[in-house]
Amino acid sequence: MIKKLKVNLLLPVFELVIASLIYTSAIPKTANSTFLPYNSNKNSDSLQIAQSYIEYNAEVIALTNATVIDGTGGSLRKNQTLIVNNGLFQEFGENIQVPQNALVIDLKDKTIIPGIVGMHNHLHIPQFPNVGAEASKLYLASGVTTIQTCGAASPEHEIILAKKITQGELIGPEIIPSAPFITGAGGNPNMIIPRNEQHLRDTMQHWIKQGVEWFKVYRNTNPNDLRIIIDEAHKNKAKVRGHLCSITFEEATKLGIDGIEHGLNSTSDFRSNKSYGVCNGSTEYLDELVINSSAVKNLQQLMIDNQVFLTSTLAIYEASVPNRAFVDDRSLKIMSPYLQSQYDERRSSFDKETEDLTRENRLKRIMAFEYQYFKMGGLLCSGVDAGRHILPGFGDQRNYQLLVEAGFTAEEAIQVMTSNGAKALGRNDIGLIQVGKRADFVILNGDLKTNADVIERVETVFKKGIGYDPEKILNEMNGKFGID
Ligand SMILES: [Zn+2]
Repeated sequence: MIKKLKVNLLLPVFELVIASLIYTSAIPKTANSTFLPYNSNKNSDSLQIAQSYIEYNAEVIALTNATVIDGTGGSLRKNQTLIVNNGLFQEFGENIQVPQNALVIDLKDKTIIPGIVGMHNHLHIPQFPNVGAEASKLYLASGVTTIQTCGAASPEHEIILAKKITQGELIGPEIIPSAPFITGAGGNPNMIIPRNEQHLRDTMQHWIKQGVEWFKVYRNTNPNDLRIIIDEAHKNKAKVRGHLCSITFEEATKLGIDGIEHGLNSTSDFRSNKSYGVCNGSTEYLDELVINSSAVKNLQQLMIDNQVFLTSTLAIYEASVPNRAFVDDRSLKIMSPYLQSQYDERRSSFDKETEDLTRENRLKRIMAFEYQYFKMGGLLCSGVDAGRHILPGFGDQRNYQLLVEAGFTAEEAIQVMTSNGAKALGRNDIGLIQVGKRADFVILNGDLKTNADVIERVETVFKKGIGYDPEKILNEMNGKFGID
């Protein structure tokens, strides 16, 4: 865990140490014993621990007999050879010569996908603001190699954690951190509630100066504040996302918002008796709205025309559907006894409601809304929004299964979870298995196209060409997630 006060003082020293030392021992599997890991590093205790999760670390890796879903949405390809050189995809195709110095990994009966780009992947869960280091491990072990945290409960921790992972002291995905949530009167405590325009701009500048480029507005945001937030952000090349309620999708789109969260369940556009700028009104639209009606399509087209990305968070919604909200064994193992007891309580009340299909039908509508957005050409991303029994990483995998249930092909679902996230982030170095891209990819044991459960069978996760062993990571986490 991160010690709050000491870390700021230690960081500059830590950076110096990195520059001055070269890592030479405990080299994981390499093609031959003569070369060092290309990302030679320093040798602190924590680095040794981080290195212990590494299964493959070689300058040149050849992946043979691979079935590849490349993230573009195009059809999967079988019997492919891929060469990874110095952390990048160097070659990819059918008749590729394997270099002599390459470490060869035979991927017969395996599928590879790009590393997942999680776009609503907090480093906190409700009631637990400081579980970032553990969440990072879960993300990486599940195949998530990049996250945008979409609102920070502990923004200082997030920035420090991002640096420590980049420096190799801790393991996890590449973290693209967020400022604290911004909301309005009546909003949650621990969020920024703007006092006036100057206060709002000053506060945003405070985070921008620390390198934060992502802001998130929450359900009670005042429309005039959103106008200021978008202005201040865009002047500084930063982006704004919203979990909306007081402001409709249409209003936020017209104000220039970059991304909208969760989809239909937080669309206040169709609420009846809603007042302007206030999170009120009634939500019967969730049970009645015709998704392919012109009202819905016009709204989605407006968002598409304004290049607003939509982030799907199906797994966490499913966790509130009585006939679906069941924990799986692997999550239960990792949840703290407290989280387990919370689950048991929820489950026993859900058990009395399994006949009630209201929320089940809402989930179907939410799925249809997202599928239509994607098919109309909208940029749909995904993220876990971890909470309840939906754990970081495992919930991202569950999203895949739910996207497939919603009608997406395997290739489309993977596109949503990888390259679409990269696009939303404005990143062209990640999100695809393609020559020249960063070698962030996941080896899955089985045929993902014919069996959606294969998304959970993560054999190795590569980030920047280094292969991490998920089993080693997860084995140490039993009962440890959800402790202060
Ligand atoms: Zn969230």
